[in-house]
Amino acid sequence: MAIPGPLRRIFDYLPPPGCTLAQLQPGMRLRVPFGQRQLVGVLLAIADCSEVPEKKLRRAQALLDSQPVLPEEMLNLMQWASRYYQHSIGEVILGSLPGLLRQGREAEVRAEPLWQLTPAGEAVDPATLRRAPKQAALLQMLKDHPAGLDAQALNQQHANWRPSMARLLEKGWVTIGERDFGALPLANIPSPDAAPVLNLHQQAAVETIGASLDRYQCHLLNGITGSGKTEVYLQVIQKVLAAGRQVLVLAPEIGLTPQLIQRFRARLGGHIAVLHSGLSDRERLDNWLACAGGDADVLIGTRSALFTPLPALGLIILDEEHDLSFKQQDSFRYNARDLAIVRAQKAGIPIVLGSATPSLESLHNVAQQRSQMLLLPERAGEAQRPQLRLLDIRHQKLEQGLSAQLLNSVQQHLDDDGQVLLFLNRRGYAPVLMCHDCGWHARCLRCDAHLTVHQGQQQLRCHHCGSQRPVNPRCPDCNSDSLHFMGAGTERVEDVLAQRFADYRVLRIDRDSTRRKGSLDNMLAEIQRGEPVILVGTQMLAKGHHFPNVTLVGMLDADYGLFSSDFRASERMGQLLLQVAGRAGRAERAGEVLIQTHQPDNPLLHFLLRHDYEGFSRALLKERAEAQLPPYSHLALLRAESPQTEAALQFLQQAKQQAAIIQPQLLAFGPLPAPMERRAGRFRAQLLFQHHHRGELQQWLARLMPQLETMKSARRVRWSIDVDPMEMY
Ligand code: ADP
Ligand code: ZN
Ligand code: ZN
Repeated sequence: MAIPGPLRRIFDYLPPPGCTLAQLQPGMRLRVPFGQRQLVGVLLAIADCSEVPEKKLRRAQALLDSQPVLPEEMLNLMQWASRYYQHSIGEVILGSLPGLLRQGREAEVRAEPLWQLTPAGEAVDPATLRRAPKQAALLQMLKDHPAGLDAQALNQQHANWRPSMARLLEKGWVTIGERDFGALPLANIPSPDAAPVLNLHQQAAVETIGASLDRYQCHLLNGITGSGKTEVYLQVIQKVLAAGRQVLVLAPEIGLTPQLIQRFRARLGGHIAVLHSGLSDRERLDNWLACAGGDADVLIGTRSALFTPLPALGLIILDEEHDLSFKQQDSFRYNARDLAIVRAQKAGIPIVLGSATPSLESLHNVAQQRSQMLLLPERAGEAQRPQLRLLDIRHQKLEQGLSAQLLNSVQQHLDDDGQVLLFLNRRGYAPVLMCHDCGWHARCLRCDAHLTVHQGQQQLRCHHCGSQRPVNPRCPDCNSDSLHFMGAGTERVEDVLAQRFADYRVLRIDRDSTRRKGSLDNMLAEIQRGEPVILVGTQMLAKGHHFPNVTLVGMLDADYGLFSSDFRASERMGQLLLQVAGRAGRAERAGEVLIQTHQPDNPLLHFLLRHDYEGFSRALLKERAEAQLPPYSHLALLRAESPQTEAALQFLQQAKQQAAIIQPQLLAFGPLPAPMERRAGRFRAQLLFQHHHRGELQQWLARLMPQLETMKSARRVRWSIDVDPMEMY
């Protein structure tokens, strides 16, 4: 059985009392004793003997399912993933299940009432119900949840909601409907949306993918932003649905907008399930069950939706395949893109990876003929490509990171009724607070990092461990009151712009300004209205959204990607730059993109200026080949951390010795302190394994892991293994 917990092994149990072997099937859940506790585990196989002595073998307590919750196909995929990523099978399997199933609840859709707004109710502004605050609050909640709310969700918000809900029902503002698994009640499905006539590139892509529906094939749909990739997905999906099969669509969390789901529903009709972080436990389970039971035709979800059973799966689509969010960065560190390929292979179906800026790994796979490239080199419809230009800011006086040239252009575009988007990948007001008299800096007590000033909340915050404290009024070392803010984040740029362009609205879009529910939607709605505004934001702006009226994009700092210690930094910088640039001039108005840099001669930047992502990636791949870095070799990063300085390094040193015994040829670099050695009060170190052969690296790791688990020094540290790491900290 697979049991939740970190141990990389499976556990044997006797069948529960009164349960015959014939009732048991792999993929069913059982409640089992584990130490002093009771846990929910998943049955992997039925054996007629065990290596555990009979006296020690414990009996499972109860069988929880009459049908497997996970089909054999999913169990196989998860076992594969557990071996490949060297992670406990219990955490892989149990972690993939919706929370309610993990807790042992019934795997059944509950037919239960669901309260929803009527069109009349939608037209009511809750603010007008001032004398009935409870009704107003309920109305607002229902507005926030167009799919409707069930009693469980309502109970969590209001202890005594039923009388007020009864009033809303009487007024005809609310109805009681049946639960639907998707994001919208069936009644709200928009009328079918007519498909545009595809251009020749799109047609070729749809035909090529369509011709491979009966077998495994990996397609890389490489199309610039606005080239109509989503349109290609939709038309291929229609073919697959017509053949009676299901489709899995994976997207980055931030790209999975209500607009995207709406667009799919408008074209494809009702039976679309969604899985993302915004759902309640019950919604998650219902959507999951609709997929597993074959009721949903399409599942749109983020990374973890990959593990959803889809009995008639006929196609996988993974949008924005270069996006880092497909890699889980803690506990089970899988890459959903790579596992999606494995799933498609095992199922014998095609997979489409889409991106305007494909990852070097995916481009390498095309070069190796492991996948097939489909190009969409032109924007669909009338839209023009934006003009990219560098602004040399050497020797220039900058006003909080903004050059005079950039400010002039902002003015011009606003004068011409255009919208302006300024991009800066740094939140907060200023990254450093410094004493002008003695040089003191505000540092995090728990990390090797500066504290960021957040002016709005009057706080200093650590962006690495989350600790915070009020901004010092005076220097703690010399008591001077001459404290200076150094550098600029989005908050400060917003301030400067608001002063300078006082006649225009300045909207800041970053994690701080969008924390409140609905605030991002409000800002997006304002932008869609099309009046000239200035948007300032972080990479939240670079993904998924269409800003048809943006005519100027400014990148305040393109240099950070050229100086980083992470070997993937320049790849990311280029992707981000083109993604941000792709927000401009999507409709009829051509856009302009200005990039501030101290390195106007950098050859990588010049590829990007020419929109030559192909040349850019070829240059990077050449560097990677010379340095024997991925995709030309394979990495695994062993990380350790501990409150004591030496423990992590000691553990890794021993791990390195063990590895050398198992395989003297395995390259191991380190151990070294992590780039940020102290974080949240722990000292961190890492050891990097490298090998040119993926399979062999995996076999050696599989032999090394059990030995590490038993090492004495392992007990003094927290450690983890990251196979194919995407970030080297
Ligand atoms: P991408 O996913 O590559 O960014 P989309 O599929 O969202 O591109 O298309 C960008 C815009 O162009 C959308 O508004 C879409 O409706 C429109 N579009 C896509 N294909 C066509 C086409 N063949 N003819 C006209 N408009 C199209
Ligand atoms: Zn001082
Ligand atoms: Zn910190």
